[in-house]
Amino acid sequence: MSNSSDSTKNQASKHPVLEVADLKKHYVLRSGIGWSARKKVYAVDGVSFSIRAGETLGLVGESGCGKSTVGMSLLMLIEPTGGTVKYNGVDITRTSKQALRQYRRHMQMVFQDPYNSVNPRMTIGDIIAEPLTNFKAASKRKRQARVQRIIRRVGLKEEHIGKFPHQMSGGQLQRVGIARALALKPGLVVCDEVVSALDVSVQAQVLNLLMDLQDEYGFSYLFITHDLSVVEHISHRIAVMYLGKIVELADRRALFENPLHPYTRALLDAAPVTDPRHRKKRLLLSGDVPNPVNPPKGCRFHTRCPFAIERCRIEEPVLEKADTGHFKACHIDDLQQ
Ligand code: SF4
Repeated sequence: MSNSSDSTKNQASKHPVLEVADLKKHYVLRSGIGWSARKKVYAVDGVSFSIRAGETLGLVGESGCGKSTVGMSLLMLIEPTGGTVKYNGVDITRTSKQALRQYRRHMQMVFQDPYNSVNPRMTIGDIIAEPLTNFKAASKRKRQARVQRIIRRVGLKEEHIGKFPHQMSGGQLQRVGIARALALKPGLVVCDEVVSALDVSVQAQVLNLLMDLQDEYGFSYLFITHDLSVVEHISHRIAVMYLGKIVELADRRALFENPLHPYTRALLDAAPVTDPRHRKKRLLLSGDVPNPVNPPKGCRFHTRCPFAIERCRIEEPVLEKADTGHFKACHIDDLQQ
C-alpha cells in the first residue's frame, strides 16, 4: 500500500481538538459469590495523548491491548473509570448528560463491521439521516438534500438511498458508515478497525476517501487498527499501545524509521519483508501477552522484552519525551546494547 498521508500531513494545526489525560477503564470481574472488589481487568490504565485539529492519530497494538476501549471511552460510549477527556477544552467526563449529548454530535465513530453497525430494516438514506433526525439538525427537506450530497461525496449513487444494507457490498456499506458519521459535520471521528473486514483493494479506496474527506472538511481522526501498513498510510502521528498503556508516541515517519521502544521494534519487525535483500536481524517476541487481570509489575512488557534488566521488573517506566522528539516508556535509551 503506497503512502499518501503527506498530502494532509502539514494541514494539521497546533490547536488540540482532543486532550486525553490519564484515561482509565477498569472492569470489575464477577466472581461466583457476587462482585469481587479485588479482581479487575485493567483494560486501559492511564493513557494520555492529544489530537490536533485536522490531524490523524493512529492507535496501534495487538488485539486486546485496550485500543478499542480507549475509542469508546473518549466518546463516553462506555464510562471511564478515571482521567479526563477534553473536547475543545471542555472536560466531557464531568459534564451533564444534556451537555454531553451536544458534544456527541461533534464526536462520531465508524465501526469495524459495517453490517453489524447498521439497522438492517432501515434504508441507506434513513441510516445516513439518522444522526440529523436524532439531533433535529435540519428540516426534512434539508436533511434529504444533505443525504444526497453526502452519499455522492462518499462515492455512492443517489439510487443507493432507497436500498437496504443486505443489498450493498461490504465496501459500499462502510462508505455508508462514513457518510453517517459525517452527516453532522463532526470535529473528531473515531475509526475503529474500519478497513480490516474489507478486501485489500477496497481498503485502499476507503482509506483514500477518509483522507480526501479530512482534506476537505478539516476534521480529526483517531484511527484504531492492528495493521501497521494501514496506520502508516493514514496517520500523521502514531501511538503504540501494550497491555492498557501507550509505550511510544511519535510522528509517523520517525516511528517507522527509528522506533525507540522494544515493543514497537518487534511489531515493525514482525511485518513481512517482500525483498529478501532487505532482510535484517529481527527482534522476535517470545511468550504470550500477559493477562490484563494481573499485569506484570514494573514494566508491563518485561516478561517478553529481550532488553529487560532488573530495574524493569521493579520500576514502571513513564512515557517521557526522548531527544528525538518521540515519547517512549522505557528505561533503556540505546537498544543497540
Ligand atoms: Fe524492555 Fe525494560 Fe524497556 Fe520495558 S523498560 S521495554 S522491559 S527495556
